[in-house]
Amino acid sequence: MIDFVPTDEQLEIQRSVRSFVRKELVPMEDELLRREQRGEPGQPGREEISALQQKAKRSGMWGINTPEEYGGVNLPATTQALINEEIGRTPWDFRFGGSAPEILYGRTEFIEESYLKPTIEGERRFCFGLTESSSGSDPRAMRSTAAKRGSDWVINGEKTWITNGELSDYCILMAKTINDDGEQGVTAFLVDRDTGWKSARIGLMGSHHASSLYFDNVIVPERNILGEVNGGFTLALGAITQSRAYEVSARNIGASKRLLEMAIGYANERVTFGRPLATRENIQWMIADSDVEIRAAQGLVMRAAAKADAGDDYRIEACSAKLFASRIANQVVDRVMQIHGALGYAKGFVVERYYRDLRVERIYEGTDEMQLSTIARALLSGKVKPGGFGI
Ligand SMILES: Cc1cc2nc3c(=O)[nH]c(=O)nc-3n(C[C@H](O)[C@H](O)[C@H](O)COP(=O)(O)OP(=O)(O)OC[C@H]3O[C@@H](n4cnc5c(N)ncnc54)[C@H](O)[C@@H]3O)c2cc1C
Repeated sequence: MIDFVPTDEQLEIQRSVRSFVRKELVPMEDELLRREQRGEPGQPGREEISALQQKAKRSGMWGINTPEEYGGVNLPATTQALINEEIGRTPWDFRFGGSAPEILYGRTEFIEESYLKPTIEGERRFCFGLTESSSGSDPRAMRSTAAKRGSDWVINGEKTWITNGELSDYCILMAKTINDDGEQGVTAFLVDRDTGWKSARIGLMGSHHASSLYFDNVIVPERNILGEVNGGFTLALGAITQSRAYEVSARNIGASKRLLEMAIGYANERVTFGRPLATRENIQWMIADSDVEIRAAQGLVMRAAAKADAGDDYRIEACSAKLFASRIANQVVDRVMQIHGALGYAKGFVVERYYRDLRVERIYEGTDEMQLSTIARALLSGKVKPGGFGI
């Protein structure tokens, strides 16, 4: 796959998502920015998100990655990338409804009825608990444990920086385990909030919602194990790879495009020393550099998505897309703020909000440095060729 050319159907879907974002999400910006200035959460609440998801459902935007037998439309990864790009055109943490993490599919009837289906329907919300205060980039250093006691497992430990931890009904939790053969590993557990785990919100620079979670002798039955005992890392890696390849990375492309459009509009209008900013070479170069970077990042995202659609191993493409798209989004927002001058720095203006929110894109879902070290390892061991394709 050298180049990605969207089909007419994909462009049509992209158009309708853009129209939804323009009509429903962008108009909320002023209100959400005001709320943030009053010290309230700068993201829409659970009810607001549900109402928006139901509205989108009426236009067919539901279950974009969900198999048809579960009420979804199961779109290819390339189409999902285009959709995520459009959603990135607002800084709100919005996703279309009707979806659940891929790792919940194909499990037991209990998991299907108690977790998969209610998550798809939006009745239950999950969080994903891997990181701990002592282990972020190096998850093997985690300290949380689950010990088998009869037919139950007893969980102890803490997780931190967990997105939506305060707002979730259950946690997909990774904890250290020992299997029946005495081998150590990490296992994924589905842990309901009513088992007694506690959470506390963490204040952040941007508007993201993250919490610490505490597990103190929390008991879950064997049936709440997701997949195999000691099989947790394989599950976690699959979910993270997908997100890196065409979810968070694609949203960063959408954010960068919107910001660049704002800068172009402002550069054409704003007059200094008798001429529009757009006539100044330094401004033109900032705009042109940003566009080249966006195009390159988009190519990486689409290549990763196309490889996922082809069923190929796309881990390195996912790392490249995540690394580059988050870096360029941060470069673009910095230039766009510069072009807007003081206005760009003002509270209540979406550029300032993007500036704060985009910084974390280089940290979560694997830091820049972790993407680089994975790519370097694959190259140095000869597992991938420089450039990725060709002879
Ligand atoms: C808003 C937000 C939401 C998050 N959501 C979730 C979530 O839902 N679930 C979840 O499990 N986690 C979540 N995280 C955690 C996130 O994945 C971790 O913060 C991230 O993996 C980095 O871990 P760390 O913060 O412990 O940094 P560390 O691992 O301590 O690293 C610190 C710095 O050192 C660098 N570094 C570390 N090791 C090396 C090395 N060997 N060589 C070179 N450089 C190195 C890192 O790249 C980084 O720059 C979230 C974080 C944030 C901020």
